[in-house]
Amino acid sequence: MVASTMETPRATGVGIDIENVSLAYGKTVVLRDVSLVIAPGEFFALLGPSGSGKSTLLRLLAGFNRANAGRVRIGGVDVVELPAWKRDVGMVFQNYALWPHLTVAENVAFGLEERRWPRERIRQRVRDMLELVSLAGFDDRRPGQLSGGQQQRVAIARTLAIEPRALLLDEPLSNLDAKLRASTGLELKRLQRRLGITTVFVTHDQQEAMTIADRLAVLDQGVIQQVGTPRQLYDAPVNRFVAEFVGSINLYAGKIEDGAAGACTVSVEGLGRARVRPDRATAVTAGAGGMVAVAFRPHAVRLAGTTPVEGLAFDAEIGTTEFLGEFVRYELAVGALRVVADLPHARFVEALLPGARARFVVSAGEIVVLADPPR
Ligand code: ADP
Repeated sequence: MVASTMETPRATGVGIDIENVSLAYGKTVVLRDVSLVIAPGEFFALLGPSGSGKSTLLRLLAGFNRANAGRVRIGGVDVVELPAWKRDVGMVFQNYALWPHLTVAENVAFGLEERRWPRERIRQRVRDMLELVSLAGFDDRRPGQLSGGQQQRVAIARTLAIEPRALLLDEPLSNLDAKLRASTGLELKRLQRRLGITTVFVTHDQQEAMTIADRLAVLDQGVIQQVGTPRQLYDAPVNRFVAEFVGSINLYAGKIEDGAAGACTVSVEGLGRARVRPDRATAVTAGAGGMVAVAFRPHAVRLAGTTPVEGLAFDAEIGTTEFLGEFVRYELAVGALRVVADLPHARFVEALLPGARARFVVSAGEIVVLADPPR
């Protein structure tokens, strides 16, 4: 066996600290008092709808934008005054920005030639980088002769070649077709793990962010709504925006019957009442009589069995059904309310035809209470 002589970029990630950053284009405020700590080696996603300020924040880290206020430190070094080329971070653009007239190898070598590396070292480095992104042997092709996924890998190889301290990716999967997206995302994650390079990527696709990122920040209108692991955001959203943006959810106006800011009993007209776990109502400050949002995921809805369940219980009429393979998505009508229920299809497919009535339950542990009631 031949020992690998591959020279990989340095494996120690750097931390990124963003402190009270605000940015406006003229009168349009795009980032409002954004603070964020990204750990060394983390794969971090900035998630939000279009126009929420994600790219602006990413470009700020790269040095293409300037904040009106606040500090940005990369690896402990204040970079606010540093131009992009002195920050030592690599950015991969959404359109990859490859030189169409250069070969794959020339594209990857580009930054190294600019840095005046010796010819032989460049050759070795290009070979290592193409091997790293599984494109060995593609040296002489031009970008136009590659698939979208391959072009992206060239762009990543080119960026990693210069040994950046951190990697910034702008919508890394958006140019790929749906089938490639999942596998490319996992490949990206494996590569990132192997290199240990701190990576920040921007996406508007919650599923993409959830599957790839170690942690993510959800942005809305230039304000960070919540930061956490995919599980934390999914299981314990802090407000309605996050609850509705991350995954599907049923969400209703509810009333606090007793207790507050912790173990409280809530009621939703038509669905019943439930005693909610303290860790599922942390954002609630209203007392008895206060209006809140009561939310639960479609997969939390189950057909009522013979054993009673602590939580919501309601009779519903089956509406439209959508067969999704592992489960069936049912739209249930409970008076004027609509409830989406994801049920495993195998057992219930016969019983639940449109127009039929059945009793459903949502156990108390699956219910989240949020401070902002729906309008
Ligand atoms: P996202 O990446 O979340 O889609 P952006 O950061 O691109 O959002 O943009 C946030 C807001 O800033 C948008 O309202 C956008 O129109 C505005 N914006 C972005 N770049 C500029 C610019 N150079 N000049 C003026 N407004 C801008």
